Amino acid sequence: MSTANNSLKSAHFINGAWEASSGSDWIDVIDPATEETFHRVPDGTAEDIDRAVAAARSAFDTGPWPQMSGPERAKVLRRMAQLIEARTAELAEIEIRDNGKPRPEAVWDIEDTAGVFGFYADLAETMDANAEEDIALPMDGFTSTVVKQPIGVAAAIIPWNFPMLMASWKVAPALAAGCTVVLKPSELTPLTALELGTIAQEAGLPAGALNIVTGAGAAGAALAAHPGADKTAFTGSVPTGRRVMQAAAEDIKAVSLELGGKSPFVIFADADMEEAVEWTLFGIFWNQGEVCTATSRVLVERPLYDVLLERLVDETRKITIGPGTEEVLMGALVSQGQYDKVQAAIATGVADGATLVTGGGRPAHLPKGYFMEPAIFADVPKDSTIWTEEIFGPVLCISPFDNEDDGVREANNSIYGLGAAVMSRDISRANRVARALKAGVVWVNCSQPTFTEVPWGGVKRSGIGRELGRWGLENYLETKQITSWAGEKPWGWYLK
Ligand code: NAD
Repeated sequence: MSTANNSLKSAHFINGAWEASSGSDWIDVIDPATEETFHRVPDGTAEDIDRAVAAARSAFDTGPWPQMSGPERAKVLRRMAQLIEARTAELAEIEIRDNGKPRPEAVWDIEDTAGVFGFYADLAETMDANAEEDIALPMDGFTSTVVKQPIGVAAAIIPWNFPMLMASWKVAPALAAGCTVVLKPSELTPLTALELGTIAQEAGLPAGALNIVTGAGAAGAALAAHPGADKTAFTGSVPTGRRVMQAAAEDIKAVSLELGGKSPFVIFADADMEEAVEWTLFGIFWNQGEVCTATSRVLVERPLYDVLLERLVDETRKITIGPGTEEVLMGALVSQGQYDKVQAAIATGVADGATLVTGGGRPAHLPKGYFMEPAIFADVPKDSTIWTEEIFGPVLCISPFDNEDDGVREANNSIYGLGAAVMSRDISRANRVARALKAGVVWVNCSQPTFTEVPWGGVKRSGIGRELGRWGLENYLETKQITSWAGEKPWGWYLK
């Protein structure tokens, strides 16, 4: 192991303290730009998960956090936001080393993470006023109050593409709602999630309200199946999401799933050429294409197709690639495993008869690290898996369409429904298509910008439920009716 950073955490965060694993296995943390192992974290066991869930359970059942008022919880969450913001540069460096992303994007992630905690602090501030609603009933003597209460212990399982930001999408609303949390970050990028433990301690979050266990699939499976948790919030791939849902079925537990996608970008011939090039490239190549909503299927109205493809290829060849510590547009893929998966997808595309117009190889100046040149495929058979399945890497597939109906039909012809985008100068057409696209997140005349204020999630195999905005808070609230009778006595059913 080289250049170990001693300030990085190497233990679980359970009940407000740093705790060793009950097991003896470790997970190497590898810098994707150098392939060097620079740290290690415990490979959490089912016993570690047990301890973390027990801590969260007791913090929920007997601790102060769920009993605190919304404004009291808001103070702690706001303090967490401030602490994250104050450490932006340092946390971004950790994210770059852990994930491989370019510095400007890592800084964005951390700024967004602070923003998410700030947003849910604001919601916590006002939620008490909205937590109870009296409902008029159509029978004399009866009144009903509908009460929103924290769901309990939330199990949060997250992926590696936006490590700290994905943690915040679950931890911040769950804590705002008054839940306690067990967080399991991805085994590929555990480091910034662990920093949340330090930040929670400094912000004065009560012990047990947030617990963090590092580990791989076995730890995730133990958490998803744990009867001590009341809800599972999962972000990751469809196959794992299916297993999480099956585990939740055992205890009939609430589950929200943010899964993969194969998002279309429908570009009409009247689109502004420069904007079409910019948003198409950003839509697929930012964060190395490791983005769940990446618009990886680009559908272009035929009169624009050849000329747009030519511009996309020219601009793609100019994309600067290198370690995220430098000013580059594209960093390294997260791991050898992900690199191999993307390379296998490219080989499948070629074997299926698609034309690899540019990219796909290793940049000549980067002999080490999980770097690849961004790729564009044209003439892709519609039944090829590179057209139908998520690649989760910098691979764009492009195809022409003939008219609006054709474009929408092709866009919707997918088992996924996470993101979608449409571009046209005809705003009424763009809005009409936006409503016809089967996806939970639709962009008009852009692709990817994501705001904490608005709901996020997918339809079809892309998932269940919505994160972010006030919808994200609802994920962690249970709705209870309290119906009272104060009518004439006796009621008169049995006692006549
Ligand atoms: P993954 O499914 O391999 O792993 C996700 C998490 O689940 C990890 O923490 C992993 O350790 C854990 N896990 C593995 N096996 C488990 C099991 N049996 N039970 C419970 N947990 C288990 O996904 P990944 O490769 O980390 O992430 C990439 C995927 O995430 C892509 O499909 C991407 O589209 C999706 N994603 C979706 C969104 C969204 O908002 N919809 C956001 C980011 C990523």
